[in-house]
Amino acid sequence: MATTPVAKIRTKKILERRRVPAAVRRLRPVFQIAFLALNVWIAAQFYFFVRQFEVGAPAYTVSRPPGVEGWLPIAGLMNLKAFLLTGSIPEIHPATMFLLGTFLIMSLLFRKAFCSWLCPVGTLSEWLWKAGRNLFGRNFSLPRWLDVGLRGLKYILLALVGYVVAAMSVEGIRAFLDSPYGIIADVKMLNFFRHLGVTAAVVLAILAIASVFVQNFWCRYLCPYGALMGLAALASPLRIRRDAALCIDCAKCAKACPSHLPVDVLIQIRTAECLGCMECVNVCPAEGALDMQAFGRRRVPSWAVAAGVALLFVGMAAYARISGHWESNVPNAVYERLIPHASEFEHPR
Ligand code: SF4
Ligand code: SF4
Repeated sequence: MATTPVAKIRTKKILERRRVPAAVRRLRPVFQIAFLALNVWIAAQFYFFVRQFEVGAPAYTVSRPPGVEGWLPIAGLMNLKAFLLTGSIPEIHPATMFLLGTFLIMSLLFRKAFCSWLCPVGTLSEWLWKAGRNLFGRNFSLPRWLDVGLRGLKYILLALVGYVVAAMSVEGIRAFLDSPYGIIADVKMLNFFRHLGVTAAVVLAILAIASVFVQNFWCRYLCPYGALMGLAALASPLRIRRDAALCIDCAKCAKACPSHLPVDVLIQIRTAECLGCMECVNVCPAEGALDMQAFGRRRVPSWAVAAGVALLFVGMAAYARISGHWESNVPNAVYERLIPHASEFEHPR
């Protein structure tokens, strides 16, 4: 006689109930807050670095934080291409290449862990949809046809960026990054946010409001950086795996998944949309039913993902710093000449 779902749930709950310790569940929020704080600190230091040249300070006491280059992903792609073709580490904006490379390796090893454990935009997005859920009691989903169509947008944006970078020669990349615009691309970006135009402000407001209603609106539909991480994650040996024999069909995993993946019915999650956030694993009440697994079905717990993410990030920054490849090779005299005239430098064609 077939077991009814109710009987199945009751049996498994009594026999194999498990609880993930609160400290483990708090690991990801702690990483997110720490990385966001690091970015705020970098942004503040960079602002004061730029201001001292704008106001003509008598001495330049604030140094440029190389981590600001994490916000120059296209320069990162350009430098990565030039490095792969020539073997020489670029002198202008090398940190963005190291950061991009590290996040790609992170995706290869731990799926899109950069997006769910570190990215400050992902963190703000998550806080917005959680605020929306608290406010309205739920988040909203777009109709499937629209959702699938919009999800393709980030890959189209990535393809456009990839096409532009692929079409550039190494000499073209060097000429671009050595130009006044390339050298102070980070200052141009800062000025974009400092002197936000009406159109940009409206677009940002729309994205923020949409993020309150739809989970990870920016990341899910529009972020080309996340799209690249997702493609790298397809080659990851790690994946969420469900043991149907132990699963009690409670659907808590699917409900917790911020990517709306049907974790409760699939055996493996292979899609590029899986963030590696471990939320599904953390809420699963049945021992052994759902885990992140690597080669040979080896279980990979949340703390191991956290340790791997931290080691990769800290190790990369330490290596680049110790080997002398973390900072752009630009003397203050050049910044002194360029920064006060930043608005005059147009994007080279
Ligand atoms: S399947 Fe699990 S790890 Fe992947 S995004 Fe969903 S909740 Fe996160
Ligand atoms: S795998 Fe999902 S559906 Fe199955 S027991 Fe765990 S949370 Fe419930």
